[in-house]
Amino acid sequence: MTLNLGKNKLKIQRKMLAFFGIVPLLLATALIRVPCPICGGSGSVSSTGMEGVTISKVESSTQSTSLQACANYRLYNMEITLTLYNSSTRDADGWVDLYLLDYSKGTILDTEFTVEVIPAGTEATDTFYANFKAEVDTVGPVTVSAGVEKSGVACKACNGTGKVALNAWPFYNSMKASFTETQRIFKPYNAPIFIQPEH
Ligand SMILES: [Zn+2]
Repeated sequence: MTLNLGKNKLKIQRKMLAFFGIVPLLLATALIRVPCPICGGSGSVSSTGMEGVTISKVESSTQSTSLQACANYRLYNMEITLTLYNSSTRDADGWVDLYLLDYSKGTILDTEFTVEVIPAGTEATDTFYANFKAEVDTVGPVTVSAGVEKSGVACKACNGTGKVALNAWPFYNSMKASFTETQRIFKPYNAPIFIQPEH
């Protein structure tokens, strides 16, 4: 009986030790910031060879518009055809910013981005779909404008800060290869929760 009590006491002590030891350790690792393994601490994912790239033509057409998330915003699904020319002697691989514009006012409603690969001295055309969000009361015609991002865009893993929490570092480091790929992809299309018929 005495022996059992002793064992129980020992168990409780071990549990308490684990609690008071591990919890502060977890808190500490969440607070310690280390350089982001995805962008190497720079806060941005770079474009390469985009200096010589110019946009020859942007064509866009609205595929559909729908009200999303209980009519919190209007989603525009746009078909975009980009024609880019790379005047430099090296291949370009980098970011292109896309802007959804209110056709009559010329104001930017939303921004998106895509990755384009343009071989040296070549004109390349790419057709793809992108989703933009706009205010619910946006009713007029819209158009898409584009701009070459020469410097790179903010890293998604660290939100452009260049630092991640120590406890998240192994996670990002292990998925580094695939994460770089996922940064190329547009925001996923969310299935409509509520669609109001357009008039
Ligand atoms: Zn980063």
